[in-house]
Amino acid sequence: MKLSKRIQTVEGSKTARFIPLLDALKRQGRPVISLAIGEPTYDTPSPVIDATKRSLDRQETRYSDMAGLMGLRTALAGRFDGCGTENIVVFNGSKQALYAIFQSICDPGDQVIIPVPCWVSFAEQVKLAGGEPVFVATIDHQLDTEAIAAAVTGKTRAILINSPNNPTGAVYPREALERIARLANEHDLFVIADEAYDFFVYDNLPRSSFYDLETVRDRLILTRSFSKHYAMTGFRVGYAVAPPAVAEALVRLQSHVTGNVCTFAQHGAMAALEMDEGLLVRRRADLQHKRDLAFDQVSGLFPCVRPQGAFYLFPDISDHLHQGETSGGFAARVLEKTGVAVVPGEDFGMDGHVRICFAVPDDQLLEAFKRIREVL
Ligand code: GLU
Repeated sequence: MKLSKRIQTVEGSKTARFIPLLDALKRQGRPVISLAIGEPTYDTPSPVIDATKRSLDRQETRYSDMAGLMGLRTALAGRFDGCGTENIVVFNGSKQALYAIFQSICDPGDQVIIPVPCWVSFAEQVKLAGGEPVFVATIDHQLDTEAIAAAVTGKTRAILINSPNNPTGAVYPREALERIARLANEHDLFVIADEAYDFFVYDNLPRSSFYDLETVRDRLILTRSFSKHYAMTGFRVGYAVAPPAVAEALVRLQSHVTGNVCTFAQHGAMAALEMDEGLLVRRRADLQHKRDLAFDQVSGLFPCVRPQGAFYLFPDISDHLHQGETSGGFAARVLEKTGVAVVPGEDFGMDGHVRICFAVPDDQLLEAFKRIREVL
């Protein structure tokens, strides 16, 4: 039996693959510590759980609006100046939002500029839409806006910017976003802003969102997620904020793909938005503490740029590679010898590095680094 050429050109998610892999190792009784999957180990907040249960008790288990529940879209629109419900589309996580965006803006051969290292699904999603990912290197994990400008061609449709960044934790300053906005305006491009970690910015750095730049709003497609901020990864609720014509296209696509996002999960998401920011602020402070703890540990082992946001370290492990070994080989060796799972940098388009998620309990972080130190 023959599979489509399209699916044959696409690789499975290099991060999500760790979920069944680590489950299997744990079932075998291996002492696994996962610093691989990007999800916080905090509990989902109880108001979210309670609202979801109440929704189930009310039998809110039926089809609902394919753009997202009006109550959720109204609450989300209220968080973005000048935004209405016609700008908001709710998806099964921002991962699906991004997939739908590329499907809706790319024709075959269209190019999407992606700074690297970058999250594992961007390039594959662009390819699934028939587009071509164009990778542009960063400098110390910050945007090289001149290189991005030089990469624009007649085929460029969009520039994709992910800040705070996965896998590096870099946060781009407003001036860099402004330069990208100017470039997009000059060349009539979309800006796709993946802001899945928007709230998790440390050291009181300003949280710069593309949405704050009014000049680019009519070409901005922004995605955010409930997953990371509210520890709701399994709920699968994320959303896009887009100009109405793009939002309408996204809903049209959605109408053939999943229809609505799980109705009672959206009620849980609504409850998350009703919570005051106290919990998020406390979790951000705790993540900053973990960032410091992890950065202190990693600095004794590898060179690493200090992350300013998200919950990842992206150290340079190249001095510890065996002859001919890539970061994939290194990560496999560390997992085999220590039970500590990290994601190879090559999966994010930058070999010689690994991604370490520090959103885990402190004792696990310390134990993981102890084991890594021993094997090195
Ligand atoms: N976004 C998370 C990560 O990078 C979860 C897995 C995925 O969807 O890629 O680890």
